[in-house]
Amino acid sequence: MEHIVIIGNGISGITAARHIRKLSNKKITVISAESDYFFSRTALMYVYMGHMKFEHTQPYENWFWEKNNIHLKKGFVKSIETQSKTLLFANGDSLAYDKLIIATGSKPNKFGWPGQDLKGVMGMYHKQDLENLEKYAPNNKICKRVVIVGGGLIGIELAEMLNSRNIPVTFLVRESSFWNDVLPEDESEMINRHIKNHHIDLRLSTNLKEIISDENGQIKSIIIEETGEEIPCDVVGLTAGVTPNIDFIKDSNIETGKGVKVNRYLETNVKDIYAIGDCAEQLEAIDQRRPIEAVWYTGRMMGETVAQTICGNRMEYKPGHWFNSAKFFDIEYQTYGWVFAKPKENHAHFHWKHNDDTKCITIEYDKSSNTFKGINTFGIRMKHETFDKWLTEKRELDYVLENLSEANFDPEFYKTFESRILKSYHKTKTVVV
Ligand SMILES: Cc1cc2nc3c(=O)[nH]c(=O)nc-3n(C[C@H](O)[C@H](O)[C@H](O)COP(=O)(O)OP(=O)(O)OC[C@H]3O[C@@H](n4cnc5c(N)ncnc54)[C@H](O)[C@@H]3O)c2cc1C
Repeated sequence: MEHIVIIGNGISGITAARHIRKLSNKKITVISAESDYFFSRTALMYVYMGHMKFEHTQPYENWFWEKNNIHLKKGFVKSIETQSKTLLFANGDSLAYDKLIIATGSKPNKFGWPGQDLKGVMGMYHKQDLENLEKYAPNNKICKRVVIVGGGLIGIELAEMLNSRNIPVTFLVRESSFWNDVLPEDESEMINRHIKNHHIDLRLSTNLKEIISDENGQIKSIIIEETGEEIPCDVVGLTAGVTPNIDFIKDSNIETGKGVKVNRYLETNVKDIYAIGDCAEQLEAIDQRRPIEAVWYTGRMMGETVAQTICGNRMEYKPGHWFNSAKFFDIEYQTYGWVFAKPKENHAHFHWKHNDDTKCITIEYDKSSNTFKGINTFGIRMKHETFDKWLTEKRELDYVLENLSEANFDPEFYKTFESRILKSYHKTKTVVV
């Protein structure tokens, strides 16, 4: 019987395993060095915040795997011998495969800062990071301040987590405004204000120089690159982005760039080896998407796609229109299609903001054809299917604005400011560039 081995029990590896099982009786083994069972990485923050226990982040009961004949193996894969189709483990074990799926996810970036390997310096990615945070920052008596380095989606989640335990936070952001390489200026500035309203010491245009330890090897403070200021702290959170977790592959003959290079069928350059999820890098980017997509739903889609191919129905990975969502403290953010920090050539932005400074929308559209290209919404929850349909139908901006209530989950709530959005549009036919 053909043996399918999957390295990584995250959303991509587990989706592949489940779908291969649905489609076949192949032998399946899923390997992870991190946890016995699949858990939802995106829910880790809620464990620290006390909203759920770690067990609640596991979408399947523990009996599910045996019942579905999916073997789980705990262990760290040290290398892949592609000639003999064998995996070698750090503890000396080995495992033969017929087909291999690499689904090893990401790891937090470290940029060689002095002190970056001290105890109490951590990313916020793995289950072990959560355990470390619980150990070094259990409360504001043991941990007087945390410095977070890197202003992306994980950094702001970490700030919210610490805030929930009243632990003071200094947040170092390299950019001149929060996430302004992705968000248009007005949105990014609204989030700056929102972060500060939560009593976070937000430092923009600020880089970490080094982390200083005391005589016992514990973190004492950090030094800021630009000013030399020393900020006393007990914990440092490194959240300056993630990179594919593929160091163990680098010496093999599997082609890598930043991630494991794959074609549209998620096949690597080596026969019978595939890569999916955060660790996969498309040889050529799909539309405007990045070649590496470190988001939950694309991992799931890749898992479903590769399962089809492995079970004999060779299938291309086609993720459709881009969408994503996140949360900045109390403000929910959704994006559909493409809204760039600065509109693309021949595009413009229509922007509207509520005067409570927690809700806004930005729509990117083509100036010549008036075609809708994408929307960012903050504090207003919208329906994915509606925007997906409008993007496919290439609707015009006017149509989108006139029908925006259709896309809203809560029409009563939306009615309270619908007329203001339309008025703003009809008044200005505004172009914010
Ligand atoms: C705090 C946080 C919040 C997030 N929030 C969101 C969100 O709101 N929305 C969203 O879309 N995305 C979010 N993401 C990103 C999302 O979680 C990832 O894109 C997704 O989990 C990646 O899934 P994956 O299966 O590719 O890899 P992973 O989930 O990283 O799983 C890979 C597994 O492989 C294991 N592994 C790696 N190397 C080896 C080896 N050599 N041997 C054995 N095992 C190995 C790893 O330990 C890990 O268990 C968030 C990420 C984090 C960290």
